[in-house]
Amino acid sequence: MGNTGKEYADGFHTAGKVITCKAAVVWGPEEPFVIEEVQVEPPQKMEVRIKILFTSICHTDLGAWKGLNEMQRAYPRILGHEAAGVVESVGEGVEDLKEGDHVVPIFNGECGECTHCESPMTNLCARFRVDPFKSVMAGDGRSRFSVIDRAGKRRPVYHFLNTSTFTEFTVLDYACVVKINPIAPLQRMCLLSCGISTGVGAAWNTANVKKGSTVAVFGLGAVGLAVAEGARLRGASEIIGVDINLEKFDKGMVLSSMKRLDKFDENLNVFRFK
Ligand SMILES: [Zn+2]
Ligand SMILES: [Zn+2]
Repeated sequence: MGNTGKEYADGFHTAGKVITCKAAVVWGPEEPFVIEEVQVEPPQKMEVRIKILFTSICHTDLGAWKGLNEMQRAYPRILGHEAAGVVESVGEGVEDLKEGDHVVPIFNGECGECTHCESPMTNLCARFRVDPFKSVMAGDGRSRFSVIDRAGKRRPVYHFLNTSTFTEFTVLDYACVVKINPIAPLQRMCLLSCGISTGVGAAWNTANVKKGSTVAVFGLGAVGLAVAEGARLRGASEIIGVDINLEKFDKGMVLSSMKRLDKFDENLNVFRFK
């Protein structure tokens, strides 16, 4: 998917209506993604419908696609949780978002009012925290998506991880949408939706890296490189990256310059971030 959102400046003209659009639907564990025509209902109370302009795949999608955990199995389903897009319409009661706002969906939502949201000790909201077992909207326990199955019957399509982004339009709880500056490039903001914030947050919050620290990062995919960037932002004096895959070096150089160190193990490649 790839456009900037500017073409929606005139408005969507679809508020309150069911939208028919394309989505990548998974019908069962490890079955191929099928591009289906789905219907997306209007957002209900405290919900937001957004046009997804960019989305990417993450390992968490893979686990749900495989149905590794039986309790996680819910099909047909629209996976995807890392994305960026534009608000198409909002449901009753949503005041801080409006049509045309540039947004990223977040799977670890924040209602802003519960004791967890008000506590500085956690960001795991009591109502909208990340929940791989949830497959319907919090408000009424229903799905906002439907599709016609092989037998010709319309049936619900399940949501995934508070988000479901492998679709042209999706419906989210207001707590799972973050408004961003409209001049920020949406194709890059997409990565803030999961990989980059997971990595930077691991260094910034979970490890709470201190100025002058030495930090080792194991695994240099998108999350690992973001950990290195988070450690750099916190003032780490030395950041070492380790990966079994030498190809990560080329990809890593795109995000952050690093130097390969002498091998101390024949299976491991070790880098120093500059
Ligand atoms: Zn992810
Ligand atoms: Zn909360």
